[in-house]
Amino acid sequence: MKSQTPLSVEEIPETLPRRQTQARADSWNDVLVVGAGPTGMACAIEAQKAGLKAIVIDKGCLVNSIYNYPTNMVFFTTPELLEIGDIPFTTASAKPNRLEALEYYRRVAEHYELDIRQYEWVKTITGEDNDFRVATTNRHDAIHDYRARKIVLATGYYDLANKLNVPGEDLAKVFHYYREPHPYFDTDVVVIGGKNSAAETALDLWRHGARVTLVHRGAQMHNHVKYWVRPDIENRIKAGEITAYFNSEVREIGEDCVVVRTPSGTIRLRNDFVFALTGYHPDYDFLRSAGIELSSEQLRPVCDPETLESNVLGIYVAGVIVAGSRTSEIFIENGRFHGKLIAADLGAKLGRGNPNFPLDAT
Ligand SMILES: Cc1cc2nc3c(=O)[nH]c(=O)nc-3n(C[C@H](O)[C@H](O)[C@H](O)COP(=O)(O)OP(=O)(O)OC[C@H]3O[C@@H](n4cnc5c(N)ncnc54)[C@H](O)[C@@H]3O)c2cc1C
Repeated sequence: MKSQTPLSVEEIPETLPRRQTQARADSWNDVLVVGAGPTGMACAIEAQKAGLKAIVIDKGCLVNSIYNYPTNMVFFTTPELLEIGDIPFTTASAKPNRLEALEYYRRVAEHYELDIRQYEWVKTITGEDNDFRVATTNRHDAIHDYRARKIVLATGYYDLANKLNVPGEDLAKVFHYYREPHPYFDTDVVVIGGKNSAAETALDLWRHGARVTLVHRGAQMHNHVKYWVRPDIENRIKAGEITAYFNSEVREIGEDCVVVRTPSGTIRLRNDFVFALTGYHPDYDFLRSAGIELSSEQLRPVCDPETLESNVLGIYVAGVIVAGSRTSEIFIENGRFHGKLIAADLGAKLGRGNPNFPLDAT
């Protein structure tokens, strides 16, 4: 990864305050990609291959979503389907784990010398096609400004959890992300949800000594639960090892209890921790703030399916956000191909052979 624009040695005063060292002049780019997930990386790689100067900005670290997955998570996808930039991904087991994926994407970033600015949050996008301005803030609240001809939004969905909107949801014992089981040994844990995350979390917690109650508003575990996980969770429930309340909803969370509405009445469960694993959603406000229109039903960004250019000329959408609220429609396996689609259009508009090439940077 390229480092941030360095000052020459003569330019660095001995007592330069940290904020000042981080301030940079505006930087011009052909393409600015928001989000350094697998899709954003693929977009930058393909843009570079088309001869364009690309920069990627992420508010977290490289592949921040994968970094924040459960610590011991194993992908359901085989490694070759997670590959980007034609860099092979091989693993000892049939399916890669989180650490192997993190290492793979680091290697890809290094191989292509991607210009990735980590820990910078894109706050506003203004301007117009061929002359966009992007303002970011870093961890120290310093503001950076960038200019770019084209923008690609690949901001994913994992930062914003779907809320329960019940009293007590803000208590420190309530989590929307699961990492590992050890802290919950010999405690009473409620897991809310009926899809993969809820099923896998409930099983992992139970296997590591937590007393687990699963609460799901559906009549049974969701059909999308992985075919090898489903019998496991169902058998644990049948055996009474994990207690489950279906057609039920958590109505309130207290310091040491959870109130659940069940088909046979409202009950109060003793409780130490709650994992509310009821899904995540893209940052619709951010997309709207860039001028992107969203469809009324599923909040899909309006875009040309051939090029993924949105209703705002020069702004493209990529990865899971293309599916709006249907976040299980697009994942790494298929989202990674958005890079090629977008780069083909960018190459035609900005690349070699275009009269405006090379970039007339200011
Ligand atoms: C537990 C779990 C297991 C999964 N397993 C698989 C699997 O086996 N196979 C598979 O194909 N998919 C899997 N998925 C789905 C897959 O991880 C996502 O679909 C994929 O990460 C989407 O890629 P993306 O690049 O579109 O978004 P992301 O990977 O979410 O990347 C988006 C990036 O944008 C950044 N960002 C957001 N807003 C801003 C902003 N304003 N400024 C700067 N940066 C911003 C975020 O920090 C993030 O790094 C899994 C998901 C989960 C939750």
